[in-house]
Amino acid sequence: MQRPLDEAIEERLAELSARGLRRTLLPLSSAGPGLAVLDGRTYLDFGSNDYLGLAHAPLDWDSLREVATGARASRLVTGNLAPHLAAERKLADFVGAPAALLFTSGYATNVGTIPALVGPGDHVFSDALNHASLIDGCRLSRASVQVFGHNDLRDLERRLEQTPASGARLIVTEGVFSMEGDRAPLADLATLARAHGAWLLVDEAHSLGILGPQGRGVCAAAGVQPDVLVGTLGKAFGAQGAFVAGSEKLRQLLFHRARSLVFSTGVSPLLAAVVSRRTPQVEAADEGRATQATLCERLATGLRERGIEVRGSGPIVTAVFGDPRAATDREARLRDAGIIARAIRPPTVPEGTSRIRLVPTAAHDAAAVDRVLGAL
Ligand SMILES: *Cc1c(COP(=O)(O)O)cnc(C)c1O
Repeated sequence: MQRPLDEAIEERLAELSARGLRRTLLPLSSAGPGLAVLDGRTYLDFGSNDYLGLAHAPLDWDSLREVATGARASRLVTGNLAPHLAAERKLADFVGAPAALLFTSGYATNVGTIPALVGPGDHVFSDALNHASLIDGCRLSRASVQVFGHNDLRDLERRLEQTPASGARLIVTEGVFSMEGDRAPLADLATLARAHGAWLLVDEAHSLGILGPQGRGVCAAAGVQPDVLVGTLGKAFGAQGAFVAGSEKLRQLLFHRARSLVFSTGVSPLLAAVVSRRTPQVEAADEGRATQATLCERLATGLRERGIEVRGSGPIVTAVFGDPRAATDREARLRDAGIIARAIRPPTVPEGTSRIRLVPTAAHDAAAVDRVLGAL
């Protein structure tokens, strides 16, 4: 007789607890830009990706009164609506690409897009620190996947040289790495891709809206036009969803072949209309970007002065403590001091590199950063 499900689950949860990997969902309510309320107490929120503080920014809600809340069907059936097309036009123009296609999330984008581009017999070259959604997209594609050393151009070049010429080649990387906070060498990656006949996909989840001219991202800053650019809307845009930007032909292939789009209800038109209104706000947020960068600098410098290992130079700063319990201990200390920032542990990061991921936003100030430093 099989055990009851809850009994089997209990054992697995106990094992996670024993390894210091048990997690909790914090019952938070947001109290405004840069803040969060937990059990009636207001905290500084240093754990969000709301880099520009736009999740709470004013919006012309009156103009949205007539917009439907739901797309009612897949984009391919009767769910392809004017707000989708308007948002896609705005996003494509923002990143300087001919076309864009909305997805319900960055996760859905990556697990849908990579298998639409490559399959069995093809070759994917994936950075060792790529986000889980990129890893899952590679796996789902059933292409042969080679993981190259993080930002290691030599390793990538060697692999490109040694891979048989048959099949398509796709290099997959992030603009700013989500848990490390460092940046990909985009110009060099683009050169390698060109020299070895590979396509380049760059996930700009943590750079679009925050880095580059008017927040157009690290590809724009490096003068690189990747074949496939992925942007998310749940981070600097303060909304939800994601998009792929690239050629018109790429857009067409994706609405035929990206299963997470084909077999999924279209993005809420209300959300698409919100994105259309947030995009010019992102573009205009030079002041917020400058504030965010200054606070990151102050935080990184302060951590180093305290002998703490720092990775990332903005918009993400991580303080590495190694053992998962050391990281959760710091999380608790921060909590006592009125700050919410989460310990990031395996499997999100490699064993022995548990850390606190700190994100100052444009809604914070120097005093907030100093409070974090004091608590650590
Ligand atoms: C957050 C993130 C995603 C997922 O985006 P969601 O819209 O939150 O699903 C994808 N890629 C990277 C690099 C991310 O950091």
